[in-house]
Amino acid sequence: MSAKSLTVNQCHHINARGRRCRMLIALDHDSLCQHHLAQSAASRPDAETVASELLDSTGELATADEVNTLLANLVRQLARKRIDRKDAMAIAYASQLLLSTLPGMDKEYAASFDSEATQEAIEGDEQSREDPPTDLLEQPPQSAPSPDEVLADETSNDYAAVRT
Ligand SMILES: [Zn+2]
Repeated sequence: MSAKSLTVNQCHHINARGRRCRMLIALDHDSLCQHHLAQSAASRPDAETVASELLDSTGELATADEVNTLLANLVRQLARKRIDRKDAMAIAYASQLLLSTLPGMDKEYAASFDSEATQEAIEGDEQSREDPPTDLLEQPPQSAPSPDEVLADETSNDYAAVRT
């Protein structure tokens, strides 16, 4: 085996002394030997934990604020090396796509709201011609004054009585 092919197939792990691992890359991996692959998998945080930390307070990712929170969580995960750089790039790209669809979503929402409001106005208008609106007939009873209000009234009366 030539020196060059050894370097290409050699594990990329470098130990604390700066020496590169001499083992060959594992068959199902592009940079680590079987030993260091297992070691790196063991040191990585649980995928579920990372996912729940990433998605913390991000809701439906339907507002700029929520997407911004996701990006902030992503930066934290990346800084702590809890997420793979490639995964982080993919999430950042997806976030960018999400942000670019927000103006369109806002327009759709506004349009649906407008048509709903128009529909309700028409229906409300038709109903008012047929029978009187119920909210005018059923007035809520006047709420009784709160004890604080009664007390305030009495004190002001007492004050007035003392003054006269
Ligand atoms: Zn190795």
